[in-house]
Amino acid sequence: MLQDIRNQFPILGVEVHGHPLVYFDNAATTQKPLAVIEALDGYYRSSNANIHRGAHHLAAAATEAYEGVRRQVQAFIGARHSHEIVFTRGTTESINLVASSFARRYFSGDGDEVIVSGMEHHSNIVPWQLAGATLRPVPFGDDGVLDLQAMERLFSARTRLVAICHASNTLGTVNPVADIVAMAHAHGVPVLVDGAQAVSHMKVDVQALGCDFYCFSGHKMYGPMGVGVMYGREELLNEMPPYQGGGEMISEVTFERTTYNELPFKFEAGTPSVGDVIGLGKAMDFMQGVGIENIGSHEADLLDYATRGLAALPGMRFFGCAPRKTAVLSFLVGDSHPYDVGTLLDQMGIAVRTGHHCTQPVMDRYGIPGTVRASFAVYNTRAEVDALVGALQRIMPMLQ
Ligand code: PMP
Repeated sequence: MLQDIRNQFPILGVEVHGHPLVYFDNAATTQKPLAVIEALDGYYRSSNANIHRGAHHLAAAATEAYEGVRRQVQAFIGARHSHEIVFTRGTTESINLVASSFARRYFSGDGDEVIVSGMEHHSNIVPWQLAGATLRPVPFGDDGVLDLQAMERLFSARTRLVAICHASNTLGTVNPVADIVAMAHAHGVPVLVDGAQAVSHMKVDVQALGCDFYCFSGHKMYGPMGVGVMYGREELLNEMPPYQGGGEMISEVTFERTTYNELPFKFEAGTPSVGDVIGLGKAMDFMQGVGIENIGSHEADLLDYATRGLAALPGMRFFGCAPRKTAVLSFLVGDSHPYDVGTLLDQMGIAVRTGHHCTQPVMDRYGIPGTVRASFAVYNTRAEVDALVGALQRIMPMLQ
């Protein structure tokens, strides 16, 4: 079964520095199965056309495929309407879209506050600062668990939004989004969820979570780069102004005045990445074919196995030990620099990420420059974890 899955990922056959590739950088981007690669190839070979406006056969076929994936995403995340699904370039663009448009509609320009968690990726921090908000970060404990009592105290008459990650890319913590939404809604405050690190690991149901916005990237869930999703509740999206102006988002244009198209097209100016959207559809098919619960339980097994294996080595320090975690292991080897560890592992064919992972406030919280991060996906194996443990054992003397 696992070998069948691995066979679908051609890149896993690659050698790096004379070693079989061990790819543990899945939180940065996952590898792509053949179905996704072939969908991109097939699209450009036989169905490429610009969507929506054309009278010809290919345009109609491309439009139908593109809109079909919108309905697929709707079902995948349990949205009420397909027009609540907006295609973007990825999580970053999704959050920037909401920040820019939401601020223009709902910020007063006078002390607007956004509550974020202390473990946000920079892409769920900077867009709010650009929109003029003052950030109120929710602290977290050494274990990487958010302090919800402290969060409750952050709400004020100036709070406009809560913007929170579903899962942390650095600590792996899975935040209790439904509880956070209930708390925020009790204060009359909407919630945006950064789901970049959640959708590939667990079943997401936006209506069950109750959130108002949910953002994610195709490339972290076995899909192509260059495509992502912004889900927003219809009531809010109808109130919000367009983010970018251009073709497709308009209803009528004159030099005096422009009226806007309906949802979701109001938020999709210009030619989208049609082939990548079609590839995203195949990525969701792949995940559902394996079974999202099966993916989650396989990764949980790898996380547990790797945590035990690494903990047995001397001098290991772990960051993020929440009871509910995705398959992300952030660590340091004694006092050695994470970059040195990453470079030596690379020499043995093992790909990990090192640095602050675009979460500098998390590094400040622990007083460290960065971590080494190993992150797992459906195609990783216990044997690969053994390779990591063995490699760390070998490099430890070189790190003194
Ligand atoms: N949020 C989180 C939690 C992430 O891990 C990432 C990617 N590292 C992003 C946002 C940004 O995603 P993208 O670069 O695909 O826009």
